[in-house]
Amino acid sequence: MNMQIEKNEQAVEVNPYDAALRNFDLAADRLELDYDVRKMIKYPERCLTVNIPVRMNDGRVEHFEGHRVQHNTSRGPAKGGLRFHPNVTLDEVKALATWMTWKCAIVNIPFGGGKGGVACNPPELARQELESITRRYTCAVLPLIGPDTDIPAPDVYTNAQTMAWMMDTYSMMKGHSVPGVVTGKPVSIGGSLGRVDATGRGVFYTIQRAAEHIHLQLDKATAMVQGFGNVGSYSAKQLHDAGCRIIAVSDVNGAIYNGKGIDIPALMAYVQKGSTVVGFGGAEEINRADMLRLTADIFVPAALENTITKENAHLLNVKIIAEGANGPTTPDADEILFQNEVFLIPDILCNAGGVTVSYFEWAQDEQHMFWDESEIYRRLERIMKSSFDEVFRVHRERNVNMRLAANMLGINRVAEATKLRGLYP
Ligand code: NAD
Repeated sequence: MNMQIEKNEQAVEVNPYDAALRNFDLAADRLELDYDVRKMIKYPERCLTVNIPVRMNDGRVEHFEGHRVQHNTSRGPAKGGLRFHPNVTLDEVKALATWMTWKCAIVNIPFGGGKGGVACNPPELARQELESITRRYTCAVLPLIGPDTDIPAPDVYTNAQTMAWMMDTYSMMKGHSVPGVVTGKPVSIGGSLGRVDATGRGVFYTIQRAAEHIHLQLDKATAMVQGFGNVGSYSAKQLHDAGCRIIAVSDVNGAIYNGKGIDIPALMAYVQKGSTVVGFGGAEEINRADMLRLTADIFVPAALENTITKENAHLLNVKIIAEGANGPTTPDADEILFQNEVFLIPDILCNAGGVTVSYFEWAQDEQHMFWDESEIYRRLERIMKSSFDEVFRVHRERNVNMRLAANMLGINRVAEATKLRGLYP
């Protein structure tokens, strides 16, 4: 399946940046936020668009467009992933950077929000071409990034190797190694233990809390997972290890189903070799759209934006939706899920485990001291569960849905920092 066609089919409904602004306004109104402060924190501080010319393996030069957006740095350096995808646009990167600001504030780590993206299609590119894109992009955004200013990390179609190339390029420019310029690096060059599965673990910890609230026993529950990359696979693995039956999994190429439960470690090994879930022996193939008609206790969307829309939200027969992906639910679909009393764990809370362990990685790099895995997981679990509890408290006390509660908590913290710092000059 062609990724280009794939994303266009879904993205027609909502521009993610419009959705981000709409959710900001809803939360700011509910917080009765001062209008001067709103103007200071609503929009990105900086957007840089860069041209990335690259010599391709066939000898010709190809041009790619890239962006880096710093949405807000009032609480610390900008932090956020780098996405490679054919449909990357400046508006998408602005939306993702905005969500990062509120996300870092919710888990209360000393970062602001940033994001980067390059419009390219990695499955069609050779390794050498990807390396050239990454290195040239790093040079182009050099004025913005740095351990004290803006720290990229992996996102869709980027990984630890991409971060190693970025770290090396930045270090070459500076003349010495600067591991803290990126997170999600390989452990051998200053990466953190526990970063690769951090987002999936964080998703799982928030599901545990939601399950407690609705008296759902995870070892008797069923789940389905949309997207089987970093976030989807590790979320599924955590649920599987807790005794939950994962009955359906999808990726960009198709979906698979096994009512008795899919063997997730075996599926991960299969995907490692063939890079798709399709054709896995331990399950039958189903239509990807039909997956959303299945009944399960938990649904983890872990692919891209706008996969839960007003057209399909009413089909979802689930008790908990744990948003591993950023922006998977459109504002109209939100309303439907809310009316159907689905327990929604919003993206800026649910998938914050990735940036939380990125913070641990950055802190370890800065102090040249490294923690063991059990220390990382212990701290991650504590932060994810206490953040869940804080969002849940706003949800209960202010009588707002979980998405609005999460936005209110994050935006209020950023507003507070902004007010304390004042307006320069
Ligand atoms: P990834 O590239 O590792 O995986 C993406 C997966 O989604 C792939 O399996 C792909 O085939 C699948 N996919 C794409 N379109 C699909 C569709 N329409 N239906 C079903 N599957 C589809 O990316 P990732 O790092 O796992 O990121 C996934 C989402 O999680 C993104 O929204 C990203 O911003 C968010 N996120 C990632 C991290 C992280 O640490 N990697 C942290 C927080 C949030």
